[in-house]
Amino acid sequence: VPELPEVETVARGLDRALRGRCVRGIELLDPKLQHLDLRQLKGAAIDGARRVGKRVAIVFSTPRGERYLLVHLRMTGVLLYSPNGLLPEDKPAKHIRGRLRLDRGALLFYDPRRFGTLDLVDDLTAAREQGVDPLSRELTASRLAQLIGVSKQPLKLWLLRQDKLAGLGNIYASEILWDCQVSPNRPACGLAAEEAAALVISTKAILRKSIRHAGTTFSDFHNVNGEAGSFLRFLKVYGKTGQPCPRCGAAIQRQVQGQRSTFWCSQCQT
Ligand SMILES: [Zn+2]
Repeated sequence: VPELPEVETVARGLDRALRGRCVRGIELLDPKLQHLDLRQLKGAAIDGARRVGKRVAIVFSTPRGERYLLVHLRMTGVLLYSPNGLLPEDKPAKHIRGRLRLDRGALLFYDPRRFGTLDLVDDLTAAREQGVDPLSRELTASRLAQLIGVSKQPLKLWLLRQDKLAGLGNIYASEILWDCQVSPNRPACGLAAEEAAALVISTKAILRKSIRHAGTTFSDFHNVNGEAGSFLRFLKVYGKTGQPCPRCGAAIQRQVQGQRSTFWCSQCQT
């Protein structure tokens, strides 16, 4: 599942590929998307794309004002910009759920498992009403402490709460806690002020580094040109059960929290 850095990578790639393009035609090929009325986008100019939490918003300028196509990629969704309008050879046409024909090329929504969602909205307020964006200036140590409040939830689970911090998922939550040397089992409200500060610094640093390397690809995530992200090689603990901790050499542990795997070093994360 794409997390914040992967969605940011897609949004930046789309922004470069689509800005200034014009919509010539719209095809929705999946019955699950037939509720969407995208006709008003025909003829619209594309003003760019940006990330909103874990979704990508493609911005259209129409005679009736701005419209935003919100895309949640979920498990296997990929947005591909094809300069010639054709599908890459490794992507079977039957998995294309939608296509925007543009004045130059096409935007394809490719999604084998069909869990991805599309929504057309005329403002982004509702889409934004999740938690704080971890890369925004709003996230400071004191804001983090305020968001945590009196929550005794284990930190790893707390970090996954989209109503508190939007966009963190399983991979980055493990990596962030390893980086700031805090145990995933600590009650969130027990963080000292300097630990909260370290957690904020690690969060921003890891997310920014992953964005620089176009995100993490295990199997499905690809950017708009169909390329994989390369942050995988920088992961310290995620998926590394039994391997030595890069900091202290103790074996990395895998633990199940909230039915999902947490990877951590019980020696140097306290
Ligand atoms: Zn360690």
